Amino acid sequence: MEKYRFRETGIIDLSELEKLGLMPPRERLLKGPVVVLECPEEIPCNICVPFCPVKAIQMESIIALPRVLWDKCTGCGVCVAVCPGLAAFVVDLSKPDADYVTVPHEFLPVPRPGDTVVLLNRRGEVVGEGLVVRVWERNKTYVVTVKTPKGLGLEVRAIWVKK
Ligand code: SF4
Ligand code: SF4
Repeated sequence: MEKYRFRETGIIDLSELEKLGLMPPRERLLKGPVVVLECPEEIPCNICVPFCPVKAIQMESIIALPRVLWDKCTGCGVCVAVCPGLAAFVVDLSKPDADYVTVPHEFLPVPRPGDTVVLLNRRGEVVGEGLVVRVWERNKTYVVTVKTPKGLGLEVRAIWVKK
């Protein structure tokens, strides 16, 4: 079995996501919102597959890694809401002045559009501040889109609401 650092640290990085085929190609990232499924373990879950409204996610078996048809994905965020592992994110690197990241959020307080929030990376480290632009909810999971400084779209994976 290939050795991956995330198996020891519990935190995956961009090079490992790429190696596992979980990172959209650069050209697709620059076209507009697209999903990144940070789901590297062969676990028995495929909930995102039937929920995707455009059938952009495929899995060969219940324990296979998800495969995304990048050009079909519209970045709608439904998989962000339904993934029990909070492992689905939508990133939009297509704008010149900022990136946009959509993350699942299950803590209180609930952010509101217009809030300034603290941006956290995969390690839980603070990497800056962002502006909440959209919030919707499904079964108590909030799907939050934040505008981040340019260059942070592939780093920000959680937010902290200052109150
Ligand atoms: S963001 Fe929407 S279209 Fe893209 S994979 Fe997820 S559910 Fe499907
Ligand atoms: S729902 Fe989440 S944990 Fe389950 S296969 Fe999809 S991305 Fe992985």
